[in-house]
Amino acid sequence: MKYRVLIGMEVHLQLRTKSKMFCRCPVRFGAPPNTLTCPVCLGMPGALPVPNRDAMIRAIALARALDCDIATDTKFDRKNYFYPDLPKGYQISQFDRPLATGGCVEIVTEEGIKRIRLRRIHIEEDVGKNIHEDGSKLSRVDFNRAGTPLVEIVSEPDIASPEEAHKYLDALRAVVRYLDISDANMQEGNLRCEPNVNIHIETEDGVVKTPIVEVKNLNSMRNVERAAICEIARHQELYRELGAKVADLPRSTCGFDDQTDKTFVMRQKEEAHDYRYFPEPDIPPIQIGSAWLGTANDMVPELPRAKRQRFADDYGLSAYDAENLCRERSTADYFETVVKAGAAAKPTANWLLGDVSFHAKERQVAIAALGLAASRLASMVNLVEEGKVSRKAAEKDLLPRMIAEGADPAQLVTDLGLAQVDDSSVLEEAARQAIAQNPKAAADFRAGKEKALNALKGLVMRETRGKANPTVVESVLRNILETE
Ligand code: ZN
Ligand code: MN
Repeated sequence: MKYRVLIGMEVHLQLRTKSKMFCRCPVRFGAPPNTLTCPVCLGMPGALPVPNRDAMIRAIALARALDCDIATDTKFDRKNYFYPDLPKGYQISQFDRPLATGGCVEIVTEEGIKRIRLRRIHIEEDVGKNIHEDGSKLSRVDFNRAGTPLVEIVSEPDIASPEEAHKYLDALRAVVRYLDISDANMQEGNLRCEPNVNIHIETEDGVVKTPIVEVKNLNSMRNVERAAICEIARHQELYRELGAKVADLPRSTCGFDDQTDKTFVMRQKEEAHDYRYFPEPDIPPIQIGSAWLGTANDMVPELPRAKRQRFADDYGLSAYDAENLCRERSTADYFETVVKAGAAAKPTANWLLGDVSFHAKERQVAIAALGLAASRLASMVNLVEEGKVSRKAAEKDLLPRMIAEGADPAQLVTDLGLAQVDDSSVLEEAARQAIAQNPKAAADFRAGKEKALNALKGLVMRETRGKANPTVVESVLRNILETE
């Protein structure tokens, strides 16, 4: 079967603001149920919503960062549906004049940079939370979250595989975190995404399109990928069963069960007209002027793609290293501080993405939050580069103590007696001993067996209790064996 995968992504992102979208209730997670509410967010008759300016500006900054066209005139609409977590019986959202249209999210694929086009970005309010307690026949509703500002980011179906879906979310989240407008954490529910999936099958009679399926309630990037894989397989199966008739099936909404790793159809997909959208009569249309645009502009820092490019150009890093360093803004900034403190870029990148990253993951903090002073890390990188301490000793003895105790690496080298021996007269003696101990290896090497040198190197390293500088050991050994 020859087919093409089309995935579009709908992302709901909770903005980090002090107060809710249309009232002054604080936005806070974990407060006792229904303590952060007021007549506005509870939808009491007569209560009037007032849009949150900070939320508007944050959303505009995001639209800027994603190269969208920002509307000069925008308005709010009511999206009508019934659900217990929706106190008003409608959600204030945006319909035909969204905050922004167009723009794109760039992902790095094996073929290079790919642009996933965006359809629109709009602002809306979050709903409350239904709580179903175990063993109880009652469901309860907590309205603390109702009215929290959300931006909805809708992409075109340009995502061509489950891996690209993952990359899209990664890239979008990186931009959001650079802007510092949301925690963008899927597990905590402040970034929620709903991929819509279908496939176009090439047949002798033309292209057959399977109906678009939207998958809901995905709580991790991994599950987004898995659900998409599942749906693609299911669409192929449907085509095998129904042939071209598959195109007549209605659009539907699916759930994903991560225990069984399966998607299941929940209902037919609702269309826009099902929601009876109409303009929100309590909020006048909004003109976005130069003052808001200016404030939003000032919030946009150097973004991941520009930083990646600069890191590759200025520091000579590989595309891979640059991408990984720039994923979190704090890590990229930290890298630059270490380099400014005098360490060479490439080895610094290796340390950060290797051992330092390992310690950060173990402690579940960002690299920059490890408490590792940039100047100390720089001096450790230099000690290794200059051959004053072995990489292994730095890894095993220096770095963990520097992180745990804030110790100074040069001091540690002295205190722990880790200084690498690179005095060739000392090493020459050890090398002669090694040759005397293993004359066969020496003879093999002289007969052209390069590998025999390793046995001799091992002996010298053992003799010096691992402190010999391996590069110097090798050249001393070669010198003796080749000239004597
Ligand atoms: Zn309120
Ligand atoms: Mn929405």
